[in-house]
Formats: sequence, structure tokens, C-alpha cells
Amino acid sequence: MFRRILTAVDFSPCSQVAFDMAVALARTTGAVLDVLHVFQPPKTIPPELVVHHGPGDQSLTTLVRERAREELDALLANSGQRIGDAILEDGDPAERIIARASTSDCDLVVVGTHGRTGLAHAMIGSIAEKVVRLCPKPVLSVRVRAPDASWRDR
Ligand code: AMP
Repeated sequence: MFRRILTAVDFSPCSQVAFDMAVALARTTGAVLDVLHVFQPPKTIPPELVVHHGPGDQSLTTLVRERAREELDALLANSGQRIGDAILEDGDPAERIIARASTSDCDLVVVGTHGRTGLAHAMIGSIAEKVVRLCPKPVLSVRVRAPDASWRDR
């Protein structure tokens, strides 16, 4: 059975469903659960830009990383699950998920997916699809339809 599960989270409702499934799988199998979030400072703004926020000035990258850490900590605290590694990285989400899965001794990767098709898929693409295609480890992709999905997404 699984000994180490890696799940990737983006804090969306779909990702929450996949995360809950990863927690359930870890509980059932006794596997260690690692959780990865990849944060991305906005591409059109220089990352060294200084933002006046709260008690002092911070670079945009620092601010985005801190926010991501807070969100990750809150997600994990609410899960009631003991977590192995809580990993925060920056970069391209699909690339980072695949790189982490490749170097970790995880035996399963769990991701959510919006299940976009047609135009939405062509425009936005799918991180889950890239991970399923290129990841060297088995991947469980949990498809969830967003409650506000329009007919174009069907
Ligand atoms: P998709 O809807 O096919 O693009 O895939 C979305 C799923 O990819 C999410 O449910 C997460 O499992 C994963 N994912 C997307 N963005 C990130 C991110 N920034 N960090 C970690 N995982 C992510």
C-alpha cells in the first residue's frame, strides 16, 4: 500500500476536494502525507517591487510567499492530519510538482482538476493533465466541476 503521498494544493475548491481525498487515503493506508504549494508572484510586475504593507516595506515576492505560507498553514491546521513535509516553492506549478515527485520517495501524487474542455482547455490548459502525462510516479487526478462552471466548460 502507499507509504508516502504527495498532494499539490492551489487553495481552490477543486484542490480542497483532492486534498481531502489525499488525507483520507493517508489515514486509511497509514501513509505519510506531504503537501506542496507553488506560489507565483505576478509575472507582469517586477518581483523586487517594494510594497508598503502592515508594519513595514516588503518585496512583492516576500509578501506573496508569506501569504502562501499563511494559507498553507491554515489548510493543514484545519485538516486534523499529521503532515510530513509542508512544502512551499516558487515557479511553474506543473514543473515543480513533477520535480518534487521525482526526487521524493512518494509512491502516489494527488492533484485536483477542473476538467476543462474545449475553448477553456485550449486557453488555460491543465496543470493536472501535464502532471499525469509527465510525472514518473502514479498520479490520482480528482476531477471536480466548479459549481459556477458555464456551458462553455462542458
Ligand atoms: P487543473 O485544474 O487541471 O489545471 O489542475 C489544478 C490542480 O493542479 C489543483 O487542484 C492542484 O492539485 C494543482 N495545482 C494547480 N496550481 C497549483 C499550485 N500553484 N501549487 C500546487 N498545486 C497546484
